[in-house]
Amino acid sequence: LGSEVHVNSDVEINEEEEDTLLGGLQIDSSADIQVPDRLVDQVIGQDHARDIVLKAAKQRRHVMMIGSPGTGKSMLAKAMSQLLPKEELQDVLVYHNPDDGNEPKVRTVPAGKGEQIVDAHKEEARKRNQMRSFLMWIIIAVVFGYAILIAQQLLLGIIAAGIIYLAFKYMSRGSDSMIPNLLVNNADQQVAPFEDATGAHAGALLGDVRHDPFQSGGMETPSHDRVEAGGIHKANKGVLFVDEINTLDIRSQQKLMTAIQEGEFSITGQSERSSGAMVQTEPVPTDFVMVAAGNLDAMENMHPALRSRIKGYGYEVYMDDTIEDSPEMRRKYARFVAQEVANDGRLPPFTDEAIEEIILEARRRAGRKGHLTLKFRDLGGLVRVSGDIARAEGREHTRRDDVLEAKARSRSIEQQLADDYIERRKDYELTVNEGDVVGRVNGLAVMGEDSGIVLPVMAEVAPSQGPGDVIATGQLKEMAQEAVSNVSAIIKKFSDEDISEKDVHIQFVQAGEGGVDGDSASITVATAVISALENIPVRQDMAMTGSLSVRGDVLPVGGVTHKIEAAAKSGLDTVIIPKANEQDVMIEDEYKDQIEIVPVSHISEVLDVALAGEPAKDSLIDRLKSITGSALEQREVG
Ligand code: ADP
Repeated sequence: LGSEVHVNSDVEINEEEEDTLLGGLQIDSSADIQVPDRLVDQVIGQDHARDIVLKAAKQRRHVMMIGSPGTGKSMLAKAMSQLLPKEELQDVLVYHNPDDGNEPKVRTVPAGKGEQIVDAHKEEARKRNQMRSFLMWIIIAVVFGYAILIAQQLLLGIIAAGIIYLAFKYMSRGSDSMIPNLLVNNADQQVAPFEDATGAHAGALLGDVRHDPFQSGGMETPSHDRVEAGGIHKANKGVLFVDEINTLDIRSQQKLMTAIQEGEFSITGQSERSSGAMVQTEPVPTDFVMVAAGNLDAMENMHPALRSRIKGYGYEVYMDDTIEDSPEMRRKYARFVAQEVANDGRLPPFTDEAIEEIILEARRRAGRKGHLTLKFRDLGGLVRVSGDIARAEGREHTRRDDVLEAKARSRSIEQQLADDYIERRKDYELTVNEGDVVGRVNGLAVMGEDSGIVLPVMAEVAPSQGPGDVIATGQLKEMAQEAVSNVSAIIKKFSDEDISEKDVHIQFVQAGEGGVDGDSASITVATAVISALENIPVRQDMAMTGSLSVRGDVLPVGGVTHKIEAAAKSGLDTVIIPKANEQDVMIEDEYKDQIEIVPVSHISEVLDVALAGEPAKDSLIDRLKSITGSALEQREVG
């Protein structure tokens, strides 16, 4: 596909150093990397989508792209327009219709001809007007002279001249209506048009006829001159891109469908009570390739007929969020930095170390071992902020420090909130990070997509009057109940206490500050309950995350990297995570020395680490071992 990374001739790829961050690229800065000319060759990853775009461009098929924002959907749509043949481009002219002023005529001519035609009409009108005014002044002069000479009447002369002048003006009114309106002009278009109609209102998408306040009396603008093209008309012979397709109102989606089906669409005024609504042009060509985009939700909410239209006459493709990390990929990410620098035009080139830092960040943001994120819009944002910092300092190159500073600056709203939250909790000493407490466990949760918080859980067990109940507050009630019922199966086996006869109170200390995910706190709840039930204290210098099965297995959860970082920021020393998540840990270097990570696969291991108070704890663990011994032994052997 011709999208390999090319470097300037004197720079090479050192095959022996392929394992380095730059994949063996021997460069000093991003300026040594060539940016491909064609947009389609600049696209990184998304091989599937790119193949489809290449194919769809050849066959002129519609495409639907579903995936996360910033992964290259509009980039690919634009790339597709560059691949369409330019020869077919057309100009569209709207003419006055002498038979019916409200139905302007539409003519299509090869691109570039439109301007010539309009110029020719203007020239003709100018000549005609010149001729007319020449004639007019002669007649005025003659009449005026005659009135003075013969009738000796100055006033009569002036009145006669005025009448003649107005008569001429009125007659020449029609001449403007002879000049056609150049609705679509492709004269300067180097490639097939690309129209982004994302979030367009009906007029911008389907075309409009402007309102005319003077609808009669010789002052009106002729209707053909008030016609305006919509996205579907400007995209003729090119690409119409609509992101968030589901946000387009249903009527517009229906009309869009008609335009796709018929390949032409008349323009009429979109606001019902304006004079424009009386006007309807002859059909205007709308022979475009449609690229519809959105996330998974978008697909559910879009007009089913429109979707089946695209599906039946085109392709559907899912965009990847991450891609496997390989030397070749990392070289492409280096090229990505060069591309963004070139696109922006003002950023200082990145040094090799600065590029390495960006690649590290791409790894980190993937949230998956051995992968790189494909959310390039955000990554591009980081490149720009880094470059801006270097530029503000007046440096020739963007350095690693600048990238690090940019990372700190360009935190998401959720990250800013979470950091603020951690700080505030430290102020109020809500985060306990030392000592041992019965029934209290530091859990971990994720806010938004990319920020963790410490979320303490407290449990209290009290004898119940009737059958036992799990009492929890807020949105996490269900999760708490499930966690307790899972842990009660385990408790039954090793404990004399029958939890089904007790009330278990669970409190999430200060949850509700935004979307806390439930499932990942279930080992936290279980630990708190066991601690309360057995009256064994829990270490407060540690936090945990993990989901619990009925058998006591600790199952993987999301967002471990962010959770670990939150624990470290809150001053905790140890963090328990599911063993299955071990490979997802990509914490920043600065936290590596601050916190010890303990991967576990069974609740008995969690308790082994989390509980304090040696004798009681050892006896509990022994009892646990006797019933769930296998998991523990495995760990000891391993
Ligand atoms: P989407 O339409 O999926 O929301 P865009 O195509 O608008 O995302 O991407 C925004 C910017 O991010 C692009 O202009 C480009 O600079 C960069 N970008 C996105 N995806 C890629 C990709 N796959 N390869 C290279 N750059 C990309």
